[in-house]
Amino acid sequence: MSHAAILESIDRMKDHGLKHTKKREDLIKLFAHEDRYLTAKQVQQKLEDDYPSLSFDTIYRNLYAFVDIGILETTELHNEKMFRMTCLHDGHHHHHFICEKCSRTIQLQMCPMDFFEQQLKNCLLKSHRFEVFGICDQCAQTA
Ligand SMILES: [Zn+2]
Ligand SMILES: [Zn+2]
Ligand SMILES: [Zn+2]
Repeated sequence: MSHAAILESIDRMKDHGLKHTKKREDLIKLFAHEDRYLTAKQVQQKLEDDYPSLSFDTIYRNLYAFVDIGILETTELHNEKMFRMTCLHDGHHHHHFICEKCSRTIQLQMCPMDFFEQQLKNCLLKSHRFEVFGICDQCAQTA
């Protein structure tokens, strides 16, 4: 993910009154570099070397604060909440395939809502979620 995405996330953080700390910046950079879903536990493990005293609670609070302001998005995999950088900076609307093994995501270029809208003629449609789960091409090869 691009450097622009990191800067945009930091801007968004400031716009919403979240103090710009080194810790939060490193958290954003971590997600930008990983480009896949991570659990709060995985985030803690990855930041452990730099911040040995960082508590799970603090990480959790920051992750949810980032979700609230649209820096991160969540999904549930193996009954665990997972976090990933949103694709807002990508501009165009799309959905994701999510690998159950490595949590990597692949963009799906078609939105299925055009199809469902025809079946919901007089309904007021507000939002939708669409995610495909499976094993990605890379993981399928090494299985
Ligand atoms: Zn995306
Ligand atoms: Zn995979
Ligand atoms: Zn859609």
